[in-house]
This record gives sequence, structure tokens and C-alpha cells, in this order.
Amino acid sequence: MDARNSTDRGTYAVIGAGPSGLAAARNLQRAGIPWTGYELASGVGGLWDIDGPRSTVYESAHLISSKRTTEFAEHPMGDDVADYPSHRELLAYFRDFAARFELTAGFRFETEVVAAAPHPDGGWTVTVEQAGRRSEHRHAGVLVANGTLSEPSVPAFAGEFDGEVLHTSAYKSPTVLAGKRVLIVGAGNSGCDIAVDAVHHAASVDLSVRRGYYFVPKYLFGKPADTLNQGKPLPPRIKQAVDTRVLRMFTGDPTRFGFPKPDYRIYESHPIVNTLVLHHLGHGDLRVRPDVERLDGDGVAFRDGTRSPYDVVVLATGYHLHYPFLDPSLLRWSGRGSAPDLYLNIFTQADPDLFVLGMIEASGIGWQGRYEQAELVAGYLRARRDNPAAARALEQRVAGPRPDLSGGYHYLGLERMSYYVNKDAYRSAVRAEIEGLA
Ligand SMILES: Cc1cc2nc3c(=O)[nH]c(=O)nc-3n(C[C@H](O)[C@H](O)[C@H](O)COP(=O)(O)OP(=O)(O)OC[C@H]3O[C@@H](n4cnc5c(N)ncnc54)[C@H](O)[C@@H]3O)c2cc1C
Repeated sequence: MDARNSTDRGTYAVIGAGPSGLAAARNLQRAGIPWTGYELASGVGGLWDIDGPRSTVYESAHLISSKRTTEFAEHPMGDDVADYPSHRELLAYFRDFAARFELTAGFRFETEVVAAAPHPDGGWTVTVEQAGRRSEHRHAGVLVANGTLSEPSVPAFAGEFDGEVLHTSAYKSPTVLAGKRVLIVGAGNSGCDIAVDAVHHAASVDLSVRRGYYFVPKYLFGKPADTLNQGKPLPPRIKQAVDTRVLRMFTGDPTRFGFPKPDYRIYESHPIVNTLVLHHLGHGDLRVRPDVERLDGDGVAFRDGTRSPYDVVVLATGYHLHYPFLDPSLLRWSGRGSAPDLYLNIFTQADPDLFVLGMIEASGIGWQGRYEQAELVAGYLRARRDNPAAARALEQRVAGPRPDLSGGYHYLGLERMSYYVNKDAYRSAVRAEIEGLA
């Protein structure tokens, strides 16, 4: 340890300066609660800073949700910003947000949190590493906002592959695919984006899928698709029936292009917002292949008994939740071990001063949904001082059964769905708690 250890027991530590960490800092500031931020990268912006050490955006990355359903309500994007801005515009947006509310100076950059643990005398000890030197800092508590999309989930395939295997977390530019025979495994949002990139550079592009998907175009009736049907949510069965019909009218039937028929209803898994992938399938630039059976020397064997040669396999197989600086027992990982079991995906039962922000996956939750998580944490900390009865009532709910945040949808039992919520159900539950603490 070096001499710059600090004791600041009234100050909360914020880990990460992405959208969730900025929302944490801003809400603590609004509630008059002192904080210090720690961020591994050299500036704010989280994964939207393509140069950040844990960023998983690529050169062609743009918002998948549109700007109006994604932005922080107190900091709208200008009318001159595109509906679906690029990662560069989004980095500028977060820098601007941090500058406007004077948050930037509250973060220590190029500083990695390597351990955070409750101190036996109360409060927390946060151990950080900066330029190879470790130091310990005492804090009142910890708000963890280290992101959910940086620790690659890599499937263990049978067999060996002679070519290059690349996870999407390491993919930045399609130049690495130039002239190559490419197989992309997984057709989630990143997989589809990279497939669309690849068709302009690669010798051939195949997309291996396990199941069928629902493809939502970025524009419907001339407007960003996610700006339609805002307001009072329709009951799940009606919304599923209406939206399935609308998609059939706009994008047709993806099985025509070789995709399997989805064995689930729309919104029971995360929808794919991409129509270019269907466009390129229709132009013969891309082929859909079945699930991988095994890697096979200079190629890949598929579950239907076919085999094709490839130079590169891109694993668009998603990410694991990852909190390496915390003792796992603090987070009570759920039965299948894929996500911590937290009240409203935020509050732990282990410690009233440990909070997780941004551990949320939902269609259309946006950064405002993440901002409201931070607003709730700041409201709770303020209530411990100003309205202890309300704070205690929330603590009892944290210790009790988990509310249903599915909005009535039956989500698929996949790892990436283990912390999935319905945005309307979730935001109403969080807002109700915020109001209860006021
Ligand atoms: C290609 C792509 C497209 C996306 N499109 C959308 C979209 O359209 N709409 C949407 O709402 N979301 C989208 N997302 C999801 C994205 O995760 C969120 O928009 C948002 O970035 C989440 O913010 P966050 O602050 O929780 O996490 P991140 O943005 O991941 O930020 C986490 C920060 O924590 C830092 N950090 C991590 N570990 C440590 C440590 N130990 N010590 C210190 N600092 C640490 C990281 O350096 C990083 O800066 C997309 C993601 C990708 C990859």
C-alpha cells in the first residue's frame, strides 16, 4: 500500500463512470451525499468510449434504441443529433452531461477498483490500483456500476479450429474480416451488426443460429420504432399479437431467409433491432446456418450434418455478469448462478451500503431507467437521515420476497435473460419506491 490511502468515511464510492456511474454521481450530488468515483478508463462514457479498456463497442456501433427513449430526461439530446447516434456522438453526450453537472472532477480516472469489502468497524474499504500502485480508501458504502457487457461468455465447443476465433468483445473494425470466409455464431444485436459490417469486406459471411428471432426495423411508419406505442402499456397478449402482425407486414417472415421459426412469442427474449441483416440475406450476401456441432480443423460442422470451411469464427455469444472485486457471497448469486439475486436488481440483503446499478436488461429501459435506479439509491440514503421509517420499510422489502418484474411476459430461461425485466413493470416499481421515500 502507498501513502495515499485515505479515510473519508462519510463518502460513497461509485465504481465506473459509464451511464450508470454518472447517474449515480448525479443523484448522490442532488441528494447532497458526498461521493468519489473510480474509473478504469481515462474519462467518462463507459463502453461508449471505444478506446476504454473494457469497451465492447465497434466502429460501426450506433444506438439500438432511439435517442428519445434512451437519453437522460434532464439532459435531452439536441434536435441536430441523429435518431440513432453513433458511439462517438454518445461519448460526446456523456462528456457533456458530466461537464454540465460538474461530475468529471469527482472521478479518479485510470483507477481500477480491485477489491471492495465491508470494514469490521463499519463502512467499506475500497482498494484501487492506479499506475501500478495500490491504495486503500475508507467509504461509507459502494455503488457498483461497472457494466454488464464486458466479460465475454465463450462457449466450449467440441473440436479444434485452425483459423482465428474472435469474440465480439475484441471486434472493433471489419478490416479484420477483409477477404476472409467468416462464420458469426449468434444473431443477437452485436452479431447482426457485425454480420452487416462483414458483408462489405469478407469473402463470405454465414450466421449460425440456435433459434428463431423477431426482427424489429429501426423505423416503422417513418418514425423510430420504439417511439410508437409509448404511454400506457398494452396487456402482454394483445401487445404480442399486434406487434407480431405489424412485424409481419414490415419485415415479412424471417423463415423465408432460412431462420428457424421462433419457438417463443415476441418479447419473451430480447428482440433484434436490425433490418439490414434481412436485406443482406435477401441479396444473397449472407447465409443462415444451424447451431454449431463442433469445430473441425479448417471448418465448422453444423447440427444438420453439413460442414463449411472458414477462416474466422466470430463469437457473438454475449457476456457474463462480472463483479470480480466483490466477495460473491455479498451478492447471493441465484440458483443457476448466472445473476445476483437483488431486490429490484439493486439492493443486496448482505449489506445496506452496497448497491448494484445497471444490472438490468430490458427492451427500452434506456439510460433514464438506469438513472431512476440511482435516484432510488440516493433517495434511500437520504431517507435513512430524514425519514428513517420509510427507509426501514424499504429494508423490510429488500429482505422479503422478490416482486414480479416480468410484466406478465414468460421470459426464456437463458443466462442473458436471468436479470431481464419488463421496462414498464420495472420503472413503475422503482418509481413507487422513490415516491415512498420522499
Ligand atoms: C454495441 C452496443 C449497443 C448498445 N446499444 C444500446 C442501446 O441502444 N440502448 C441502451 O440502453 N443500451 C445499449 N447498450 C447497452 C449499454 O451497456 C448501456 O447503454 C450502457 O453503456 C450501460 O451503462 P453502464 O454504466 O451500466 O455500463 P458501461 O457503459 O459498461 O460502463 C461501465 C464502466 O465501469 C468501468 N469499470 C469496470 N470495471 C471497473 C473497475 N473494476 N474499476 C473501475 N472502473 C471499472 C468501465 O471502464 C466502464 O467505463 C449497448 C451496448 C453495446 C455493446
